[in-house]
Amino acid sequence: MQSQQYDVVVIGGGVVGSAILRLLSFYRLKLLLIEKQPDVCEGTSKANSGIVHTGFDAKPGTVEAECLRRSRRLWPRLVEELKIPYLPCGAIMVATTEEEKEMIERVYLPNAEANGVEVQWVSREEILEMNPAVSPRALGGLAVPEEAICDPFWATRAFAELAVVNGAEVMLETGVAAICEEGDGLRLLLDNGGEVSTRYVVNAAGLWSDEIARMIGDDSFSITPRKGQFILTEEQVAISSIILPVPTPTSKGILVAPVVFGGFLLGPTAENQEDKWDRSTSHAGMEAVLSGCEKLIPGVRAFSTIRQFAGVRAVCSTGDFVIRPSACNARMIHAAGIRSTGLSASPGIAELVVEQLARAGLTLEEKNDAQQSLPDLFADERDKGEIVCLCRSITRSEIIHALTRPLPPRSIDGIKRRTGATLGECQGNCCIPRIIDLLDSRALPVKGLRHSYLGVKKERSSHDV
Ligand SMILES: Cc1cc2nc3c(=O)[nH]c(=O)nc-3n(C[C@H](O)[C@H](O)[C@H](O)COP(=O)(O)OP(=O)(O)OC[C@H]3O[C@@H](n4cnc5c(N)ncnc54)[C@H](O)[C@@H]3O)c2cc1C
Repeated sequence: MQSQQYDVVVIGGGVVGSAILRLLSFYRLKLLLIEKQPDVCEGTSKANSGIVHTGFDAKPGTVEAECLRRSRRLWPRLVEELKIPYLPCGAIMVATTEEEKEMIERVYLPNAEANGVEVQWVSREEILEMNPAVSPRALGGLAVPEEAICDPFWATRAFAELAVVNGAEVMLETGVAAICEEGDGLRLLLDNGGEVSTRYVVNAAGLWSDEIARMIGDDSFSITPRKGQFILTEEQVAISSIILPVPTPTSKGILVAPVVFGGFLLGPTAENQEDKWDRSTSHAGMEAVLSGCEKLIPGVRAFSTIRQFAGVRAVCSTGDFVIRPSACNARMIHAAGIRSTGLSASPGIAELVVEQLARAGLTLEEKNDAQQSLPDLFADERDKGEIVCLCRSITRSEIIHALTRPLPPRSIDGIKRRTGATLGECQGNCCIPRIIDLLDSRALPVKGLRHSYLGVKKERSSHDV
């Protein structure tokens, strides 16, 4: 059987792969994104703090710092064009000891300057005035006005959806199982028995990007998983910015951040583990989150929580993002090892990858008719008709609209992430049966619906997202 022929195949439908697909879709290219999960944004991209980092604390001169620098310029336009929910709340890195204060002065102030990010020292009084919930033990802090919050799923879905509108194809629930050389391109063997041929491959497979590299004999980097556990609360926390601790050697530390659709996130932990799939939460993890947050926000133990979940970082053996052609075959460009700031850095990573593809010989001819923007997802559907999700006031027509988008959901989880239904205080107990009734009554096919409903229940009992 003749396999399909593409110019570029992107492996991985996280925020990185989707951002790359979007940028490539502005050129005359035959494009395919392959994702092994049933939806985009099912990997690390769905479970993170949602911070659009400026890179003020990135190590100057690294690929990560360069991607974040480029992204700072790109985000404002993306937010506007893709209607990404965005909270420009700024951040404050709070020092609670003399050592932390000295660390900010010695490391983070010069770092921010080297990276060209605006920061300013703020006194204890200034912090408390705007953020009364912060510990009175604060000695002062570093304000980073450009840091923001966005919805990671919205960004990922919008990147991929715009690419689909511009003619790219997305193949879900299909894993790349092997890759072999074929003439002046590569042939991908899929876990469903299919095959695709392509001139170039972008490896954006997150935690599994080392395994994709090894499929062409490239063992130049390895990925180890590092879990981060979170607590979600809908408590009214009296803060107006993201409250950051002074980082530890292994992570940015345990922070408190607003969620763009309401509520606050506490976390994450940083726990090295063997299993790339393990997103379970634990009592020890929850305790680590609470004691970490307590240093910044003393009242945190009294907060009621509506959910716990975990995400897993892809920690790279090289200590930096790997964005370059493979030494084994220049037709594979890696976008790998994107550990802690991949959401923020994704627009810059996409630029760098497209430049690498051009250098590797891909001809980039701009399309005249490519769409740059998506319409407001629910502009005509809000406040219309029966409310299905009472906690978040999501209407029946918002859900139906989500089902008819260019990249429609295939599960209750997909509906949840596109509409916000089930995300409120009841966590779906009231609205999931209504959503199922709605789908049944309209004979709308959502694959594995009842199975995924049970999946939601099962997930919730294991505290996963
Ligand atoms: C606890 C935590 C907090 C974080 N906080 C922030 C933050 O506040 N701000 C920020 O910018 N970043 C943050 N990050 C980092 C950010 O989430 C990641 O850098 C980013 O999501 C990485 O995206 P990705 O597309 O590389 O990986 P992923 O989202 O994991 O996507 C890779 C995809 O590849 C698919 N795949 C793998 N193998 C195959 C295969 N063989 N065939 C087909 N598909 C395959 C996977 O299913 C997956 O969907 C955080 C991360 C964690 C874990």
